[in-house]
Formats: sequence, structure tokens, C-alpha cells
Amino acid sequence: MSPPNQKVAVLGAGLAGLSCAFELARKGVPVTVFEKDPFPGGMAASFTYEAPGGEEFVYDFGPHRFHTKDDALRAHVEEILGDNKRTAQRLSRIHLFGKFFDYPLKARNVLASLPPHLLFRAFLDYFWIRFKVRTGLSRISDDNFEDWVVKRFGKTLYRIFFGTYTAKAWGMSPRDISADWAAQRITLLSLWDTVKKTLSRKKGNTPRTLVTEFLYPETGGIGAIARAYADKIREAGGEVLLGAPVTRIEREGSLVKALHTGGESAGTFPAGRVLSTIPITTLVNLLDPPPGEDVLEACSNLHYIGIVFVYLVLNKPSVSPDSWIYLPEKHLTVHRISEFRNFSPRNAPPGKTMICTEITCRKGDDVWNMDAESAIQVAVKDMETVGLVKKEDVLDGFVRKMTHAYPVYDLHYKENLAPLRAFLAGLENLETGGRQGLFRYNNMDQSVEMGRRMAWAYLEGRDAGHADVATGKEYFG
Ligand SMILES: Cc1cc2nc3c(=O)[nH]c(=O)nc-3n(C[C@H](O)[C@H](O)[C@H](O)COP(=O)(O)OP(=O)(O)OC[C@H]3O[C@@H](n4cnc5c(N)ncnc54)[C@H](O)[C@@H]3O)c2cc1C
Repeated sequence: MSPPNQKVAVLGAGLAGLSCAFELARKGVPVTVFEKDPFPGGMAASFTYEAPGGEEFVYDFGPHRFHTKDDALRAHVEEILGDNKRTAQRLSRIHLFGKFFDYPLKARNVLASLPPHLLFRAFLDYFWIRFKVRTGLSRISDDNFEDWVVKRFGKTLYRIFFGTYTAKAWGMSPRDISADWAAQRITLLSLWDTVKKTLSRKKGNTPRTLVTEFLYPETGGIGAIARAYADKIREAGGEVLLGAPVTRIEREGSLVKALHTGGESAGTFPAGRVLSTIPITTLVNLLDPPPGEDVLEACSNLHYIGIVFVYLVLNKPSVSPDSWIYLPEKHLTVHRISEFRNFSPRNAPPGKTMICTEITCRKGDDVWNMDAESAIQVAVKDMETVGLVKKEDVLDGFVRKMTHAYPVYDLHYKENLAPLRAFLAGLENLETGGRQGLFRYNNMDQSVEMGRRMAWAYLEGRDAGHADVATGKEYFG
């Protein structure tokens, strides 16, 4: 079957958009990717910081490790990277009560490090809640994050490990977060399960969340995947336009007629087929004429969490062996730190290192508007409090911000999302996918999978089926 020769516009050059455009371009389909930022990769982009002496540090948006259970998908991404790849070891921990706990939780470590009175309470709570659930005495529901976790782990463990971190990372009460998030991200069913699996030496009894190794580029950070895709798309005859935001999507009834773009490539592009991976809320707001009031109202009720990333360049060879460390405690503003040399030693020059600290926010709030100097001070103070960095080690600091880091799975997100999905499904030549396009809390591998499926479906003239990706139980962390 010869491929369709209609021109395809792919919106967004994150991994979903690029993997989609790559599959189309290599089949000879004329494809143009429109990306608002001047760099490819979206959330999985990387950058280089050049120190005054010329030393280079490579950094990502927080920790980005590539992992998939699908061998064919891993092989595909390895092929995209060519020789530029390595297998990195994952070490991630939680810092609590002045100590580091392995993460995902290991029973032995929890038993050894938790203060005895808390440990006692944790077990008591755990067995009490399990007893109540089994005998039907418990009326705890399964619809919000707090109840979901308490029902499975008990109140003490919820408070120590899950509640405080989630409240901090999401900037909202876990009672207002849908249980979908917990169900998708916390696959360990119970503390007992953790204990059994950790203590047992039987093969295959590793906790499901324990991904100990991951794929990462040798040089250029995680963004090397996106850059390699962009090169391959261009080599195959496709276009990747950077700094080219889509500013209006003209439609006539159920057909998208034209795309209007800004930036250097500003202009009007006739729309053949449109495969969009930009945030679904942005997409809906760009439609001209707009959809009905009910869709716009639902759209205004969908929200995203933003992140302020504060990077610290340090005059020391290493901060910790960890890929990343969670900081759930309330007295710290930062909720996670990552160190890029632990992803690839080539990310930092010998004798120096760079860490990334993350602070949750919403676009436009006080944290978002904080000036760089103040944000750096906050980060340095927190790092001093946990004892990982001394002020005099800090050579430089700078800030990057992300508006659409996490879709907010509040208690009503599904009902708000439904009218948008229904309206967009009615547009004959437009498809939406990827993490942003489906308002889904998924990982890089799943965005790649979605992008490729959108392309294959177009090539084969059938329903994409990409919307099923990342709806099952996922990894935590
Ligand atoms: C802090 C953090 C850490 C993470 N860590 C991991 C990890 O360790 N492992 C993992 O697998 N996943 C991780 N993820 C998730 C991963 O980054 C995403 O799942 C994946 O990169 C999403 O790719 P995407 O293409 O679907 O979306 P995006 O990368 O968001 O791409 C969408 C693109 O659309 C563009 N766009 C938006 N509006 C317009 C417009 N009007 N016109 C043109 N373009 C537009 C955006 O600029 C963006 O480039 C992490 C995410 C975050 C925030």
C-alpha cells in the first residue's frame, strides 16, 4: 500500500510529536513539525550551561530516565540514539528525619531507619486498617488520593511517605486529588507486600516499582533523543520548525482548514492532516471558530502544575550517589533534587557538579513570579538544611520554568476532560495525543509509543488506538 501523500502537520516537538513525525517522514509522507520553543524535546529537552572558564554542564528538566517494559520500544529508542547511549544505575531515596530511605521503599531500610515509636504506630495502623477493610468496618472510599493510600498503607505511612510529599509536589490537598493518580503511580499493594517482596529472595519477587537500571544518552542529556529524532526527520525530507508557535487553528465545521503560526516561520499553512501533541486545553483555545460554551467552560476547569527548576553549579565533585532524592518534609520548599552526573558522568566536568532542585507552583503564582535570585537563595538554604551543599560550594545558579509539568488529576478532571475529547473526536482531520494532548500523567516511553501509533494509524488509514497507552498500572517514580 502506498502511503497517503496528504501533507501532515504535527503540533509540538516533544517526544510524542517527534516520534510521530519520524515514522511518517521515513515512509515518505510530507510532514512539518511546529514547535513553539526554540529547542526540540518539550519536557524531555536538555541544555548546556557554559561556565565562565569554558567548562560545560549538561542538564535536563529534573530527573529524566528512560525506561520501558517493551523490548521493541527500547530497541527503537536505542536505534534512534545510535552509539550515544548508556545504561545508568538508578539510586533514588527519600530524605526524612535527617536520614535517607531507599526509594522505592525497602522494608529492611524502613525497619532500620524509622524512629521506633513511628514504626510501632505504622504497623499498628496498618494492621488496624487492613482488619477494618477485610471485616467491612471501614467506610474509607477509593475516590481520592488520601483515602486510597490510607486504605492500603495505614495513616502513619500515608502521612510520612505519601501524604506530605504529594501535598507538596501537587500544591494541593491529597483529598482533592483523584485516586486515579495513586492507582496509576503506586503499584505496591500494601506494606506487607513490600515486606514480603523485599525479604524474599525468590526470583521475580522484586517489587514492581523497583526499576534499577535505565537508558540514558552518553552525551547531550535526555534531550539527545529528541535532537536525534529531529535530525532523522530532516534527513528523511520532513521539516521541524522551532520557535514556531501555532497561534490559531482555522476550522470549517468538522474540518481543520489552516494553521496560523507566529515566530520566524510566521504564516498560514493549509491543513491536510493535523496530529497534535500540544496541551489539549491550548488546542481547544486555538480553535477558530471556538467550540461551544460548555466545552470552553470544561476546558477552563482543567489545570496544570508548573515547576520552577533551580539549578546550582557546584565546586565539588559530587553531592550524592543518587539519581534523585525526594524531600517530602514541609519545612523544605524544594520537593526533589537530581544530580546529572549520576545519569551520565559526561554531564559535568571533572571535580564539579550540578544539581537541579524543583519547586512546585502554578503559572502566575508567587513562586512562579519569584525572581531568580530569591529562588536560588531558597534552594541553597534547603540544600544546607539537608546537609548536601554548603553555600561556599555554589559557583552559580539559574532558573528555568515549566508551565504544564503535570496535569492536575483533581476529583472532577474526567468529567471536565470528556467534553473536550468528544468535541475533538468530531474533527475529521485532527487527532490529539501524547501526554499533553490526552491530559495524561505518562512517561517518555509512553509518549513515544503514542506518537508512533498515531503515525501508523494514519499510514494505515485506521483508528489510532494511541489513547489506550498509559491507562494501566504504571511505575511509581
Ligand atoms: C520534572 C519531570 C520529570 C520527569 N521524569 C521522567 C522520567 O524520569 N522518565 C520518564 O519516562 N518520564 C519523565 N517525565 C515525563 C516526560 O517528560 C513526558 O512524559 C514526555 O516528555 C512528554 O512528551 P510529550 O511529547 O507527550 O509532551 P511534551 O514534551 O510536553 O511536548 C509538547 C510540546 O508541545 C509544544 N507546544 C505547546 N504549545 C504549542 C503551540 N501553541 N505551538 C507549537 N508547539 C506547542 C511544547 O513546547 C512541547 O514541546 C518527567 C516529567 C517532568 C515534568
